[in-house]
Amino acid sequence: MLFDVFTLFPEVFPAYLETSILKRAKENDLLEVRLHDIRDWATDKHRTTDDTPYGGGGGMVMKPEPIFKAVEEVIGIPPSCPLILLTPQGQTLTQQKAEELSELPHLAVICGRYEGFDERIRQHLVSEEISIGDYVLSGGELPALILIEAVTRLIPGALGDPEGAFDDSFSCGLLEYPQYTRPPAFRGWEVPEILQSGDHGAIDRWRRNQALLRTLQKRPDLLFKADLSDADLDYLEQAVQESETAASDPIINLIKKRKE
Ligand code: SAM
Repeated sequence: MLFDVFTLFPEVFPAYLETSILKRAKENDLLEVRLHDIRDWATDKHRTTDDTPYGGGGGMVMKPEPIFKAVEEVIGIPPSCPLILLTPQGQTLTQQKAEELSELPHLAVICGRYEGFDERIRQHLVSEEISIGDYVLSGGELPALILIEAVTRLIPGALGDPEGAFDDSFSCGLLEYPQYTRPPAFRGWEVPEILQSGDHGAIDRWRRNQALLRTLQKRPDLLFKADLSDADLDYLEQAVQESETAASDPIINLIKKRKE
């Protein structure tokens, strides 16, 4: 998969791209990241890419000309691939969105700085806007790396273990079950016996129940969209009765409806 990244700070990317899964994905030709310094398309001798906002107010705004020129030269206008504007005003990045994007061969992203972009970039250049969450960072470089990583680890072959992403939180609509490794007892805290039993059917059921319980406790909102079997619903019903949490009423209604 090819990413074209338009940024004022290309120098912040290499260290992360040269580490672990992204490095291996690049070495295995699963990932290519081309970094484009927007300043290279500035037209004045000071290589200006920002200006004061019309109407006054603090801060600077990214000018449209260098960004349009950069995009035009690299991927054309209209762009030859989806062009994503990284902005806190965009649709929040989810695992489902990352899955969708991981099926594409080519993506381009624009990283903002300062107070953000001249509105004409948003209106007339990009195909979509993505946010990495409801908070504001100083630039789009970390959001770009987050997007690249979230998408790349879903490309078949990018993870050492091909099953690795399957049970990850959100992938199957639930949070992941608790994980343990050696030693079997640490400071008196023991690994659940069932995980050491070798009974794979029982382990699968325990993991599924733990994922349901964890999701119920930490992110009950996810249960409303999750694919739940009859056994899942029975387990949840019992867990809700035992926990009597504030969230239990809507969850009890959900279970009732799904069981109908
Ligand atoms: N004034 C803008 C607003 O209120 O929407 C925020 C500008 S922010 C200081 C500068 C740049 O950082 C943005 O243009 C965007 O590229 C990036 N950025 C900051 N927070 C982000 C987020 N949550 N998701 C994606 N990009 C973000």
